[in-house]
Amino acid sequence: MDNAEVKKELIQIKETLKAWAHEYYVLDQPTASDYDYDKLYRQLEELEGQHPELITPDSPTQRVGGKILTGFEKVTHNVPMMSLSDVFSRSELEAFDARVKKALGVETVAYCCELKIDGLAITLKYQDGLFVQGATRGDGVVGENITENLRTVQAIPMRLAQAINLEVRGECYMPKKSFLALNERREQEGQDVFANPRNAAAGSLRQLDTRVTAQRNLSTFLYTVADFGPLKAMSQSAALAELSTVGFRVNPEYRLCHSVAEIWQYIEEYHAKRTSLPYEIDGIVIKVDDFAQQNQLGFTVKAPRFATAYKFPPEEVETVIEEIEWTIGRTGVLTPTAVMTPVRVAGSTVSRASLHNGDFIAEKDLRIGDHVLIYKAGDIIPEVAKVLLAKRPAGSVPFVLPTHCPVCHSELVHLEEEVALRCINPMCEAQLLEGLNHFVSRNAMNIDGLGPKIMQQLFAKGLVKDVAELYRLQEADFLQLDKVKEKSAENFYRAIQASKSNSAERLLFGLGIRHVGAKAAKILMSHFGTIAALAQATKEDIVAIDSMGEIIADSVTTYFKNQEVHQLLAELQAAAVNLNYLGAPAVSPTESTSEFNGKTVVLTGKLVHYTRDELKARLESLGANVTGSVSKKTDIVIAGTDAGSKLIKAQSLNIPVMDEEQLQSKLMEEQ
Ligand code: NAD
Repeated sequence: MDNAEVKKELIQIKETLKAWAHEYYVLDQPTASDYDYDKLYRQLEELEGQHPELITPDSPTQRVGGKILTGFEKVTHNVPMMSLSDVFSRSELEAFDARVKKALGVETVAYCCELKIDGLAITLKYQDGLFVQGATRGDGVVGENITENLRTVQAIPMRLAQAINLEVRGECYMPKKSFLALNERREQEGQDVFANPRNAAAGSLRQLDTRVTAQRNLSTFLYTVADFGPLKAMSQSAALAELSTVGFRVNPEYRLCHSVAEIWQYIEEYHAKRTSLPYEIDGIVIKVDDFAQQNQLGFTVKAPRFATAYKFPPEEVETVIEEIEWTIGRTGVLTPTAVMTPVRVAGSTVSRASLHNGDFIAEKDLRIGDHVLIYKAGDIIPEVAKVLLAKRPAGSVPFVLPTHCPVCHSELVHLEEEVALRCINPMCEAQLLEGLNHFVSRNAMNIDGLGPKIMQQLFAKGLVKDVAELYRLQEADFLQLDKVKEKSAENFYRAIQASKSNSAERLLFGLGIRHVGAKAAKILMSHFGTIAALAQATKEDIVAIDSMGEIIADSVTTYFKNQEVHQLLAELQAAAVNLNYLGAPAVSPTESTSEFNGKTVVLTGKLVHYTRDELKARLESLGANVTGSVSKKTDIVIAGTDAGSKLIKAQSLNIPVMDEEQLQSKLMEEQ
């Protein structure tokens, strides 16, 4: 290549890297994998190495990280927040170790090895022990002030045990579980999903509305002290221990290693454990432990010379897309799923992957018959990373998105600001069935045994079209279903009856009101106490509750304006389904005016309307002390059916006994 050609090539690589970095750092929606980014970055480094005269100051090799978003105040870092150099193999690690030893003029070096948490770097300032400022890394010199967002992260202490000045740095991340739940919710709501927990964490932290951040369950691990204040650590491992003592969350898996062999063992160990950790890691960070040695080694323009990151190889596996199926959720969102030739990825066989929405298919130009690379997001959920265009079969045609609902055949719509296709026919059978499945699911009414297959049959036979009809089912109805015998029919029936006495937040969640998740349902019910009161609430009443925003308030009030909803509630009430909140009320037990307050209560016999745990929790919330055995100290015994020796003992001691019906009416009075 002559100089002009090299220049052209360099420009092209830099443009591509910049575009990818913009998607990654600013939009939190990368289209390239980290592996592809790192590979191209390496290529740039090599070319620049051969032609140092062509290095420009705006080259990605000369700058750290992302851009500053408008909307956030800028914070200049007193100590720059740097990146890390990386190594991808044992031989590159050996070369790093050799460089370090040579520069220090020593034979052995102690390294502090840490997990490389896949989140985003944050810096936290404390004055007199109080948290005063938090910022992102930004471009390394200037970051974004995200203090208010970070205040919502439970793992960050707002006050330290000692009144000291300090600046500490670490990683803010989203635990895998929260990431998976968030993406599932977003997919159902027709929004874009996040590619990985890192992007989800970044997107959650840089929210102008801190209530959104608060709902995202972020956490942190701190690993660097930027301003030591009175701390005295002289090494990285001592600093980690000290950070933990002061009250920060420090990842406990770090280890001191004294040779490449020991480091490699640590790398292999955590490579294997990676999928079972509750947070995502993308490698191992290896730092010279001794601070004096760190100072001696110093920094390059963008990274310390005393540390490097070993990046795990990507777990991307090739397979073929055989089919694209569409399913309809309870809110009418259509989700495409790739059906693929089964392959093993990160420990399990995978044959299906969500393609999320039509845009996802279009952006990747995914086609049936394509060879694709797949990986597991959050180490769990299969995702299509990219199409191997070179292997595209001749004659392949672009995938055409459906225009009509595959179930009810009504025309699909693309609502503004949504990426999803929606079926907006409220009577679409697929939606009704999904709504029923949601109603009986574990976090909603928790009706044991009524899985999708049973629901599908009940629905197809016309036995159940809405949730109220579930409560009209008799044992005999179940006997009409495939392979259902008397015992199962009885169990189904009982499980439905038992669900009638659930605390009403389960019902509220089960109704499937948009934006009302299990947590919001609980907050709403603990505040309003009854579904009837909630149905009367105005938008202002709902927004007045601490963690409730306009979106939920709008959705709830719109829902209860619907006459059909009131009809449904009346039917549920007629079927004796509990519409009241039975959990802990907002008052503390000491303020309780309940007749159970301060009383020692014993439960015995079989209860129909409550589970033992529910009733215990309810009574305790009213100030009762629920114990296991009857004695002179017992004030009330609550006896269900088939009560035995405890009831006899209570009678012999003249202790008041209540049956379940009496108890229920007492509890009603307490509402
Ligand atoms: P990096 O992520 O490779 O390493 C530096 C970062 O590691 C630190 O800033 C810190 O946030 C983090 N870290 C986690 N645990 C740590 C620990 N225990 N100790 C110290 N640091 C720890 O570098 P970077 O500059 O943040 O990002 C560059 C990388 O981002 C690229 O190598 C690439 O993988 C990815 N990227 C991807 C795209 C894409 O399109 N997919 C685009 C841009 C960047």
